[in-house]
Amino acid sequence: MNLQENVLLKNYSNYKIGGPAKHFIEVESTEELKDVLRLVNSQAQDKIAILGGGTNVLISDEGFDGLIILNRIKGIEREGGNLRIGSGTSIQDILEYCIENSLSGLEWAGGLPGTIAGAVRGNAGAFKGETKDNVVEVESLGLENLNEKIRNNAQCQFGYRNSIFKSGEGLDEFITHVVLELTLGDQEEIKEKIKQKIDYRNNRHPMNYPSLGSTFKNISLDSLSPGLQKEFAEIVKIDPFPIVPTTKLLALCGLKGKRVGGAMISDKHPNFIVNIDNATAKDVKALIEIAKQIIREKYNLSLEEEIIYLG
Ligand SMILES: Cc1cc2nc3c(=O)[nH]c(=O)nc-3n(C[C@H](O)[C@H](O)[C@H](O)COP(=O)(O)OP(=O)(O)OC[C@H]3O[C@@H](n4cnc5c(N)ncnc54)[C@H](O)[C@@H]3O)c2cc1C
Repeated sequence: MNLQENVLLKNYSNYKIGGPAKHFIEVESTEELKDVLRLVNSQAQDKIAILGGGTNVLISDEGFDGLIILNRIKGIEREGGNLRIGSGTSIQDILEYCIENSLSGLEWAGGLPGTIAGAVRGNAGAFKGETKDNVVEVESLGLENLNEKIRNNAQCQFGYRNSIFKSGEGLDEFITHVVLELTLGDQEEIKEKIKQKIDYRNNRHPMNYPSLGSTFKNISLDSLSPGLQKEFAEIVKIDPFPIVPTTKLLALCGLKGKRVGGAMISDKHPNFIVNIDNATAKDVKALIEIAKQIIREKYNLSLEEEIIYLG
């Protein structure tokens, strides 16, 4: 067990932002994870946080005063028509496996960064697809009681960028494995569909700077007053239900290119706040507050973060 101290988290963050973790460990299997948890729980001192690909978390400049467990439980096993996947496997590796084995269903996730555990927890989605569409079962381990659970799709209580692991009774659980259902398809078609999504992202998103993807959730059309529904009728998108894209509202409010310190609201896709020059978490939070305030003043709407705060 290689328990490290004072590990700089910016090196594990897609944003390249974040101070040190008091303690830090990588786990490669459920057994290793159990050993770590037994040790930590017996000493009963550290708070625990989990890190996957670090593509959705804004880590504080002060770091994390506890133990970070970096998920490296990887591997893909074929179980009939399904795949049982180690939760630290990247979406990119799963898509490469899908192409090699002509498995269809996950093409919507082309270019989605991060691990399958992160995608399950936040029910990541794009191009009208959502992680929940493919999930059969999720295996998890209680961080405190080490209870092993297997939940089927309905029991995961998936919602818009949400699941039982993000805001329900699974909050204190470590997702260890995910079973996905895919179907046999045409290899060239699968490859082409994935490539289209990656190309779209490369064209539309500011991929040349570190980011966490979309900062805020989109706004459900249903939640708007009839007046605003009318005002935004032209920009409504179905993703996967009718939404007003937050990026359009930020653009309408003139926030493109707005800078605080080393952080900037992207002028290419304003829902991305990019790290253009050694940004701090404080810089990013200041921009988040500015955006929220302006949207509140102009439309009387409350933006909700899609990104997660750590530390
Ligand atoms: C360029 C870019 C584009 C993006 N595009 C999209 C998009 O189109 N759609 C979308 O939905 N998201 C998008 N994202 C956000 C992000 O990629 C996804 O949310 C992704 O699923 C997060 O996975 P991760 O492994 O990086 O999670 P992390 O950022 O490491 O963690 C996210 C949360 O999950 C928790 N977590 C991680 N692993 C586990 C585990 N094993 N058990 C329990 N909890 C765990 C963490 O504690 C944290 O709270 C984008 C991000 C970037 C940088």
